[in-house]
Amino acid sequence: MSYVHLVTEDLRWVAAYWEDLTEARLPGTARPWRHHDLTTDQQQERDRQAWEERLDRSSVAPGEHPAPLDLGILDTMLDVLVRADDLAAAIAQHVGVEPLAPPRLGDTDARPYLEFAAQHLADDFTFHAAPVARTMVTQVAHALALVFDGQRLDVECPWCRGITPDTPAGGARTWRVRELPGNLIAIVCENLCEPPSKDVGTWWRGSPVWPLAEWDWLAKRVEQAETKEKISA
Ligand SMILES: [Zn+2]
Repeated sequence: MSYVHLVTEDLRWVAAYWEDLTEARLPGTARPWRHHDLTTDQQQERDRQAWEERLDRSSVAPGEHPAPLDLGILDTMLDVLVRADDLAAAIAQHVGVEPLAPPRLGDTDARPYLEFAAQHLADDFTFHAAPVARTMVTQVAHALALVFDGQRLDVECPWCRGITPDTPAGGARTWRVRELPGNLIAIVCENLCEPPSKDVGTWWRGSPVWPLAEWDWLAKRVEQAETKEKISA
């Protein structure tokens, strides 16, 4: 894999989880369970509402407890937006293409800048782009972990099928998001679960662990398993 490719993957990873960040929705894994595709207009409207709600909750009256989680996420988003805009502008200048208009006041969506940067990144600019892209990945991963650490996922593990001593027929929800030592943000199957080694990247205390970078892949596996189940049902 080329170096440019690795950097554009980072940029697109941040873009892929942007919506999860804005909605504090389940990252990655939520996608297969989205029952209807929204039109762009509907999505924008929903984003706008989510944003307004977030801002409402963030404006704290005296005596109220602030919501550090939300403010942390808002900070992260704005910070990533600034980085993405700067990077896209630098890349535009480097390759001599028309830059995107900078974000206006109230704009919060970093995705156009991330996509622009990914599209126009040239080989001889990766030394500049790589650390920026990495920083954005780390920032977004941490923000997501703040939201999702400890959360149980509404998913049946395709490997152990949620078969536990309490639920011998299967279907138990055994996946949980955990922030593991070393700042590793991962999904852990907290069951006696033994996926084949090709299907699991790492283990923690005897449980299979899928780091955040593998969640897209993981979501697809779950989707495949669910489709198979539907067909055979
Ligand atoms: Zn499992």
